[in-house]
Amino acid sequence: MEPLFLQPVFQEKIWGGDQLHTVFGFDIPNEKIGEDWAISGHPHGVSIVENGPYKGWKVSDLWAEHRELFGNAKGDVFPLLTKILDAEDDLSVQVHPDDSYGLKHEGELGKTECWYIINAKPGSEIVYGHNAKTREELAAMIEAEQWDDLLRRVPVKKGDFFYVPSGTIHAIGKGIMILETQQSSDTTYRVYDYDRKDDQGNTRELHIQQSIDVTTVPAISPELEVTENKKGISSVITYLKTDFFNVYEWDVVGELSLKKDGDYTLVTVVEGYGKLIVDGQSYEVKPGTSCILPAQITEWKVAGEMKIIASTPGKK
Ligand code: ZN
Repeated sequence: MEPLFLQPVFQEKIWGGDQLHTVFGFDIPNEKIGEDWAISGHPHGVSIVENGPYKGWKVSDLWAEHRELFGNAKGDVFPLLTKILDAEDDLSVQVHPDDSYGLKHEGELGKTECWYIINAKPGSEIVYGHNAKTREELAAMIEAEQWDDLLRRVPVKKGDFFYVPSGTIHAIGKGIMILETQQSSDTTYRVYDYDRKDDQGNTRELHIQQSIDVTTVPAISPELEVTENKKGISSVITYLKTDFFNVYEWDVVGELSLKKDGDYTLVTVVEGYGKLIVDGQSYEVKPGTSCILPAQITEWKVAGEMKIIASTPGKK
Protein backbone atom coordinates (compact mmCIF):
# COMPACT_ATOMS: atom_id res chain seq x y z
CA MET A 1 0.00 0.00 0.00
CA GLU A 2 1.31 3.46 -0.94
CA PRO A 3 0.66 6.74 0.86
CA LEU A 4 -2.06 8.75 -0.88
CA PHE A 5 -0.23 11.92 -1.97
CA LEU A 6 -2.60 14.78 -2.72
CA GLN A 7 -2.71 17.69 -5.14
CA PRO A 8 -3.02 21.13 -3.53
CA VAL A 9 -6.30 23.05 -3.88
CA PHE A 10 -5.76 26.82 -3.88
CA GLN A 11 -8.37 29.29 -2.66
CA GLU A 12 -8.17 32.97 -3.56
CA LYS A 13 -8.97 35.30 -0.63
CA ILE A 14 -9.15 39.08 -0.17
CA TRP A 15 -6.52 38.69 2.57
CA GLY A 16 -4.28 36.17 0.76
CA GLY A 17 -0.70 36.57 -0.48
CA ASP A 18 2.06 34.86 -2.45
CA GLN A 19 3.92 32.88 0.23
CA LEU A 20 2.45 29.57 -0.92
CA HIS A 21 4.73 30.24 -3.89
CA THR A 22 7.66 32.08 -2.28
CA VAL A 23 7.93 29.91 0.85
CA PHE A 24 6.34 26.62 -0.26
CA GLY A 25 7.24 26.67 -3.97
CA PHE A 26 3.72 25.96 -5.21
CA ASP A 27 2.74 27.12 -8.68
CA ILE A 28 -0.11 29.38 -7.55
CA PRO A 29 -2.53 31.03 -10.01
CA ASN A 30 -2.23 34.60 -8.60
CA GLU A 31 -0.83 36.55 -5.62
CA LYS A 32 -4.00 36.55 -3.53
CA ILE A 33 -3.96 32.90 -2.53
CA GLY A 34 -5.06 32.67 1.08
CA GLU A 35 -5.39 28.93 1.47
CA ASP A 36 -4.12 25.61 0.24
CA TRP A 37 -6.66 22.95 1.10
CA ALA A 38 -3.95 20.35 1.54
CA ILE A 39 -6.05 17.38 2.67
CA SER A 40 -9.77 17.75 1.99
CA GLY A 41 -12.88 15.76 1.27
CA HIS A 42 -15.01 18.93 1.31
CA PRO A 43 -17.00 19.76 -1.86
CA HIS A 44 -15.75 23.38 -1.85
CA GLY A 45 -12.25 22.09 -2.63
CA VAL A 46 -11.66 18.36 -2.65
CA SER A 47 -8.19 16.79 -2.77
CA ILE A 48 -7.27 14.46 -5.62
CA VAL A 49 -4.78 11.60 -5.26
CA GLU A 50 -1.73 12.01 -7.48
CA ASN A 51 -0.04 8.60 -7.29
CA GLY A 52 -0.55 4.87 -7.11
CA PRO A 53 -3.58 2.71 -7.83
CA TYR A 54 -5.98 5.46 -6.66
CA LYS A 55 -4.43 8.19 -8.84
CA GLY A 56 -7.15 10.63 -9.93
CA TRP A 57 -9.56 9.68 -7.16
CA LYS A 58 -11.19 12.36 -5.02
CA VAL A 59 -10.79 11.88 -1.27
CA SER A 60 -14.57 12.14 -0.90
CA ASP A 61 -15.08 9.28 -3.40
CA LEU A 62 -12.48 7.12 -1.66
CA TRP A 63 -14.33 7.76 1.60
CA ALA A 64 -17.62 6.70 -0.04
CA GLU A 65 -16.35 3.66 -1.95
CA HIS A 66 -13.16 2.47 -0.25
CA ARG A 67 -13.86 2.98 3.43
CA GLU A 68 -11.38 0.20 4.20
CA LEU A 69 -8.61 2.74 3.48
CA PHE A 70 -9.91 4.64 6.50
CA GLY A 71 -10.17 1.63 8.80
CA ASN A 72 -13.91 1.38 8.07
CA ALA A 73 -14.42 4.51 10.18
CA LYS A 74 -18.02 5.69 10.54
CA GLY A 75 -19.55 8.93 9.28
CA ASP A 76 -21.17 10.40 6.17
CA VAL A 77 -18.23 12.63 5.26
CA PHE A 78 -14.45 12.54 5.54
CA PRO A 79 -14.30 14.43 8.83
CA LEU A 80 -10.99 16.30 8.69
CA LEU A 81 -9.57 19.18 6.69
CA THR A 82 -5.95 20.33 6.68
CA LYS A 83 -5.14 23.78 5.29
CA ILE A 84 -2.07 25.96 4.90
CA LEU A 85 -3.02 29.64 5.25
CA ASP A 86 -1.07 32.70 4.16
CA ALA A 87 -2.48 35.81 5.81
CA GLU A 88 -0.97 38.70 3.86
CA ASP A 89 -3.71 40.80 5.48
CA ASP A 90 -5.98 40.33 8.52
CA LEU A 91 -8.68 37.68 8.30
CA SER A 92 -12.16 38.72 9.40
CA VAL A 93 -13.09 38.39 13.05
CA GLN A 94 -15.20 35.26 13.02
CA VAL A 95 -16.72 32.35 14.90
CA HIS A 96 -17.85 28.86 13.87
CA PRO A 97 -20.81 26.79 15.09
CA ASP A 98 -20.62 23.42 16.80
CA ASP A 99 -21.94 20.24 15.15
CA SER A 100 -25.54 20.54 16.38
CA TYR A 101 -25.95 24.17 15.24
CA GLY A 102 -24.00 23.55 12.01
CA LEU A 103 -26.03 20.50 11.02
CA LYS A 104 -29.33 22.19 11.88
CA HIS A 105 -28.69 25.57 10.20
CA GLU A 106 -26.05 24.90 7.52
CA GLY A 107 -26.40 21.19 6.77
CA GLU A 108 -22.78 20.47 7.59
CA LEU A 109 -20.50 19.80 10.52
CA GLY A 110 -19.52 22.51 12.95
CA LYS A 111 -15.96 23.66 13.00
CA THR A 112 -13.46 23.14 15.74
CA GLU A 113 -9.99 24.02 14.51
CA CYS A 114 -6.41 24.39 15.67
CA TRP A 115 -3.38 26.24 14.40
CA TYR A 116 0.31 25.55 14.20
CA ILE A 117 2.13 28.82 13.45
CA ILE A 118 4.49 28.08 10.54
CA ASN A 119 5.92 31.59 10.59
CA ALA A 120 4.95 35.04 11.77
CA LYS A 121 6.37 38.48 11.07
CA PRO A 122 7.56 40.40 14.15
CA GLY A 123 4.62 42.02 15.95
CA SER A 124 2.06 39.56 14.54
CA GLU A 125 -1.00 38.85 16.62
CA ILE A 126 -4.26 36.95 16.55
CA VAL A 127 -7.70 37.62 17.97
CA TYR A 128 -8.43 34.79 20.40
CA GLY A 129 -11.51 35.10 22.61
CA HIS A 130 -13.49 38.06 23.93
CA ASN A 131 -14.20 39.98 27.12
CA ALA A 132 -18.01 39.98 27.29
CA LYS A 133 -19.42 38.42 30.47
CA THR A 134 -22.93 37.75 29.21
CA ARG A 135 -24.57 37.17 25.82
CA GLU A 136 -26.41 40.51 26.24
CA GLU A 137 -23.12 42.29 26.81
CA LEU A 138 -21.62 40.52 23.78
CA ALA A 139 -24.52 41.68 21.60
CA ALA A 140 -24.29 45.25 22.93
CA MET A 141 -20.53 45.48 22.37
CA ILE A 142 -20.85 44.14 18.81
CA GLU A 143 -23.72 46.55 18.11
CA ALA A 144 -21.63 49.48 19.42
CA GLU A 145 -18.55 48.25 17.52
CA GLN A 146 -16.42 48.28 20.67
CA TRP A 147 -13.82 46.08 19.07
CA ASP A 148 -10.84 47.16 21.16
CA ASP A 149 -12.70 46.42 24.39
CA LEU A 150 -14.39 43.25 23.16
CA LEU A 151 -11.60 41.37 21.39
CA ARG A 152 -8.66 39.69 23.09
CA ARG A 153 -5.42 39.97 21.13
CA VAL A 154 -2.52 37.58 21.59
CA PRO A 155 1.01 37.96 20.15
CA VAL A 156 2.23 34.93 18.21
CA LYS A 157 5.53 33.53 16.98
CA LYS A 158 6.74 30.64 14.86
CA GLY A 159 6.06 27.28 16.48
CA ASP A 160 3.14 28.40 18.68
CA PHE A 161 0.03 26.21 18.75
CA PHE A 162 -3.58 27.29 19.41
CA TYR A 163 -6.72 25.26 19.97
CA VAL A 164 -9.82 27.02 18.64
CA PRO A 165 -12.97 25.11 19.66
CA SER A 166 -16.25 25.99 17.93
CA GLY A 167 -17.76 29.06 19.63
CA THR A 168 -14.39 30.83 19.97
CA ILE A 169 -14.26 34.33 18.44
CA HIS A 170 -10.99 34.48 16.52
CA ALA A 171 -9.02 36.05 13.69
CA ILE A 172 -5.68 35.28 12.14
CA GLY A 173 -3.68 38.50 11.86
CA LYS A 174 -1.63 39.68 8.92
CA GLY A 175 1.90 38.37 8.51
CA ILE A 176 1.10 34.86 9.77
CA MET A 177 1.30 31.48 8.03
CA ILE A 178 -0.60 28.66 9.65
CA LEU A 179 -1.10 24.95 9.31
CA GLU A 180 -4.73 24.46 10.28
CA THR A 181 -6.25 21.15 11.28
CA GLN A 182 -10.03 21.39 11.45
CA GLN A 183 -13.32 19.61 11.07
CA SER A 184 -14.46 19.36 7.45
CA SER A 185 -16.66 22.45 7.37
CA ASP A 186 -16.76 25.73 5.46
CA THR A 187 -19.21 27.56 7.73
CA THR A 188 -17.88 30.88 8.97
CA TYR A 189 -19.90 33.54 10.77
CA ARG A 190 -18.23 36.90 10.26
CA VAL A 191 -18.50 39.31 13.19
CA TYR A 192 -16.35 42.15 11.84
CA ASP A 193 -14.40 42.65 8.61
CA TYR A 194 -12.67 46.02 9.28
CA ASP A 195 -15.20 47.68 6.91
CA ARG A 196 -12.94 46.39 4.14
CA LYS A 197 -13.99 46.51 0.45
CA ASP A 198 -12.93 44.26 -2.44
CA ASP A 199 -11.82 45.44 -5.92
CA GLN A 200 -15.47 46.00 -6.89
CA GLY A 201 -16.10 48.12 -3.79
CA ASN A 202 -18.18 45.44 -2.07
CA THR A 203 -17.98 44.54 1.59
CA ARG A 204 -18.28 40.89 2.63
CA GLU A 205 -21.42 39.68 4.35
CA LEU A 206 -21.53 39.75 8.16
CA HIS A 207 -23.48 37.22 10.25
CA ILE A 208 -24.11 39.11 13.48
CA GLN A 209 -27.08 37.16 14.84
CA GLN A 210 -25.53 33.75 14.14
CA SER A 211 -22.30 34.95 15.74
CA ILE A 212 -24.09 36.04 18.90
CA ASP A 213 -25.97 32.71 18.95
CA VAL A 214 -22.94 30.43 18.69
CA THR A 215 -20.24 32.31 20.61
CA THR A 216 -19.25 30.71 23.91
CA VAL A 217 -19.94 33.24 26.70
CA PRO A 218 -17.96 33.91 28.78
CA ALA A 219 -14.96 32.97 26.64
CA ILE A 220 -12.91 29.97 27.67
CA SER A 221 -9.15 29.74 27.31
CA PRO A 222 -8.36 26.09 26.67
CA GLU A 223 -5.31 24.79 28.52
CA LEU A 224 -3.15 22.61 26.29
CA GLU A 225 -1.33 19.62 27.70
CA VAL A 226 1.53 19.47 25.23
CA THR A 227 3.84 16.49 25.65
CA GLU A 228 7.12 15.76 23.94
CA ASN A 229 8.36 12.22 23.36
CA LYS A 230 12.07 12.26 22.53
CA LYS A 231 13.24 9.59 20.12
CA GLY A 232 16.99 10.13 19.80
CA ILE A 233 17.43 13.64 18.49
CA SER A 234 14.02 13.56 16.83
CA SER A 235 10.81 13.95 18.77
CA VAL A 236 7.06 13.54 18.59
CA ILE A 237 5.12 16.41 20.13
CA THR A 238 1.47 15.79 21.01
CA TYR A 239 -0.45 19.06 20.90
CA LEU A 240 -4.03 17.92 21.20
CA LYS A 241 -6.25 14.94 21.74
CA THR A 242 -9.89 15.86 21.23
CA ASP A 243 -13.16 14.24 20.13
CA PHE A 244 -12.54 15.62 16.62
CA PHE A 245 -8.84 15.10 16.00
CA ASN A 246 -5.47 14.38 17.54
CA VAL A 247 -2.62 16.59 16.36
CA TYR A 248 1.11 15.90 16.46
CA GLU A 249 4.37 17.42 15.32
CA TRP A 250 7.06 15.08 14.06
CA ASP A 251 10.29 16.93 14.57
CA VAL A 252 12.61 14.92 12.37
CA VAL A 253 16.41 15.04 12.61
CA GLY A 254 17.91 11.97 10.98
CA GLU A 255 15.44 9.10 11.01
CA LEU A 256 12.25 8.63 12.98
CA SER A 257 10.25 5.37 13.07
CA LEU A 258 6.52 5.68 13.65
CA LYS A 259 3.52 3.40 14.11
CA LYS A 260 -0.11 4.13 13.41
CA ASP A 261 -2.24 5.10 16.40
CA GLY A 262 -5.48 5.96 14.62
CA ASP A 263 -7.62 4.60 11.78
CA TYR A 264 -5.57 6.66 9.32
CA THR A 265 -3.06 9.51 9.48
CA LEU A 266 -2.95 12.91 7.76
CA VAL A 267 0.55 14.21 7.06
CA THR A 268 1.79 17.63 5.90
CA VAL A 269 5.41 18.79 5.75
CA VAL A 270 5.62 22.37 7.03
CA GLU A 271 9.39 22.82 6.97
CA GLY A 272 12.46 21.08 5.58
CA TYR A 273 13.15 18.24 3.18
CA GLY A 274 13.45 14.49 3.45
CA LYS A 275 11.84 11.16 2.78
CA LEU A 276 8.83 9.18 3.82
CA ILE A 277 9.65 5.48 3.81
CA VAL A 278 6.85 2.89 3.57
CA ASP A 279 7.37 -0.85 2.92
CA GLY A 280 11.00 -0.19 1.95
CA GLN A 281 9.93 2.33 -0.67
CA SER A 282 11.15 5.89 -0.30
CA TYR A 283 9.17 9.01 -1.31
CA GLU A 284 10.83 12.44 -1.51
CA VAL A 285 8.91 15.06 0.46
CA LYS A 286 9.25 18.83 0.79
CA PRO A 287 7.43 21.80 2.33
CA GLY A 288 3.75 21.52 1.44
CA THR A 289 3.82 17.80 0.61
CA SER A 290 0.62 16.27 1.98
CA CYS A 291 -0.61 12.71 2.11
CA ILE A 292 -2.98 10.35 3.85
CA LEU A 293 -1.47 7.19 5.30
CA PRO A 294 -4.33 4.70 4.91
CA ALA A 295 -5.24 2.15 7.57
CA GLN A 296 -3.23 -0.59 5.85
CA ILE A 297 0.04 1.28 6.49
CA THR A 298 0.79 0.38 10.08
CA GLU A 299 4.39 1.58 10.34
CA TRP A 300 6.65 3.97 8.46
CA LYS A 301 9.76 6.07 8.75
CA VAL A 302 10.51 9.70 8.08
CA ALA A 303 14.07 10.77 7.39
CA GLY A 304 15.78 14.11 6.83
CA GLU A 305 15.46 17.39 8.66
CA MET A 306 11.81 18.35 8.77
CA LYS A 307 8.86 19.53 10.77
CA ILE A 308 5.71 17.64 9.92
CA ILE A 309 2.22 18.21 11.30
CA ALA A 310 0.22 15.00 11.48
CA SER A 311 -3.31 14.31 12.63
CA THR A 312 -5.57 11.36 13.25
CA PRO A 313 -9.36 11.33 13.67
CA GLY A 314 -10.80 11.77 17.16
CA LYS A 315 -13.40 9.58 18.81
CA LYS A 316 -16.46 11.32 17.32
ZN1 ZN B 1 -11.79 30.02 11.70
